Amino acid sequence: MLRRTSAAGTQPADTGSGSARPAPTRRAVVVGASMAGLLAARVLADHFEQVLVVERDRLADAPEHRRGVPQDWQPHLVLGRGRRVIERLLPGYGDELRAAGAVPMRLPADLLMLNPCGWVDRRAPGWEALSASRPLLEATVRRRLRAEPRVAVLDGHDVTALIASPDGRAVTGVTARPVDGPDGAIELDADLVVDASGRGSRAVAWLGDLGFAAPAREHIGSGTTYSSRLFRIPDDFAADWKAVMLTTRPPSIRRSGSLFAVEGGRWLVTLTGTGGERAPSDEDGWRAYARSLRDPVLAEAIEDAEPLSPVRVHRGTSNRRWHFERMRRRPERFVVLGDAACVFNPVYGQGITVAALAAETLDACLRRRGPAGLDALAGRFQRRLARVTASPWMQSTGEDLRFPTTTGTRPNALLRAQYRYLDRLGLAVTQDPSVADVCIRVYGMLERPSALFGPRLLLAAARARVGDVPAMPPSPPRDAVGAATLP
Ligand SMILES: Cc1cc2nc3c(=O)[nH]c(=O)nc-3n(C[C@H](O)[C@H](O)[C@H](O)COP(=O)(O)OP(=O)(O)OC[C@H]3O[C@@H](n4cnc5c(N)ncnc54)[C@H](O)[C@@H]3O)c2cc1C
Repeated sequence: MLRRTSAAGTQPADTGSGSARPAPTRRAVVVGASMAGLLAARVLADHFEQVLVVERDRLADAPEHRRGVPQDWQPHLVLGRGRRVIERLLPGYGDELRAAGAVPMRLPADLLMLNPCGWVDRRAPGWEALSASRPLLEATVRRRLRAEPRVAVLDGHDVTALIASPDGRAVTGVTARPVDGPDGAIELDADLVVDASGRGSRAVAWLGDLGFAAPAREHIGSGTTYSSRLFRIPDDFAADWKAVMLTTRPPSIRRSGSLFAVEGGRWLVTLTGTGGERAPSDEDGWRAYARSLRDPVLAEAIEDAEPLSPVRVHRGTSNRRWHFERMRRRPERFVVLGDAACVFNPVYGQGITVAALAAETLDACLRRRGPAGLDALAGRFQRRLARVTASPWMQSTGEDLRFPTTTGTRPNALLRAQYRYLDRLGLAVTQDPSVADVCIRVYGMLERPSALFGPRLLLAAARARVGDVPAMPPSPPRDAVGAATLP
């Protein structure tokens, strides 16, 4: 059965330009109700009379693991910049997360971070993160979206194709099928379709079905695997840190690990391997891998801790981007964002932040649409999004390419020179809190990577000596509590 639905109301009144908000148009359809789709829906609600988010999974109100987001057993740190943008889109988001048990932590004061050269100096003010499980991060956004009168969620429906106008120049809707019903494909009209269906997006195939050539694709894979497990934090556990990150040291040390306190008095502990390394999922093998990391602090912390989950493995971590911005021919009224457009090796924690920035970018493009209205939006949006993703892409792929096992292009002379400088800077962050502060802010995407090349840091890198690396990081001063700048 084919059923056609359409939003009640008039035809799009999509005129207006400049900073004044144009009159709302009729309906936007978003494919995927994960972080990118929900944040996009939030901004679309300011521009459309109705925003329909179509999601394949059935969605609960409470935080729950779900099939469509298989990475949700793994740690998800929202970087400082991402938190700032989400707070702007959904004021009070941080307070709601805290109320639900998210653990406030200052980076680097509350974090024991062993970088390739040594422990990052914890005396830097840095920024504050709210550490929570991925299901809680997402359910908190979802709850806010459910309260938006213009946003509706159609869950349990798989989007299977795009529908184009008779002349093929614009996308006018999508076809969706219920995932657990007997049959009944439906067609959903839309004035704009946003694909936020993640790494497994079929956007390129859908465009192909409409006669559009596939955009160029880049793929750089370091073969990183995640193996995570939840533990109850022992009642008698006492330490002056809330998280641990033990990084790799390319090219030789390919094992890393992290531990984050999350809601419910739990630790989320992750063992990571790169270039063929992978933590075993059996009890003894997993713990032995933890003990093999560069420092015993993580393995010792969990030695007597009660496991609350089995080991959950995740392998889909390569960097991949589609250059939608370079398409010679594209249909109007169809845009792609989030992991569907550009996905990173998650060890650098950029995905949600970039999804939030994409929502902001979409909002800016919609606010400034000219006389052609929605018909000139797609190309402009994809070009602006490509600029937003360029820097995190360079960071993520640049670090991955330090491993000779990484697939993709090889580092050029410039990148190799950059590695030498960053290695010296890695020494400086172990002994100078002001250098550590800049680096941790760049990591949080609160400053541009160019901040790493300022005169003060160049000098600090030149002066840093291997012999000055402390055996343990200097603890943050007690009066530094609360000094971290809110992002
Ligand atoms: C191991 C791992 C660890 C990570 N850690 C971090 C971290 O620390 N910090 C961080 O910021 N990011 C992290 N990420 C990245 C983060 O998970 C994503 O960037 C983020 O979820 C945004 O993705 P998305 O919304 O674009 O897609 P996804 O989260 O993949 O969601 C896609 C959604 O679309 C739905 N869907 C798919 N196809 C269809 C269809 N045809 N019809 C209807 N619905 C559909 C799916 O069910 C799902 O709900 C990590 C990722 C991985 C893999």
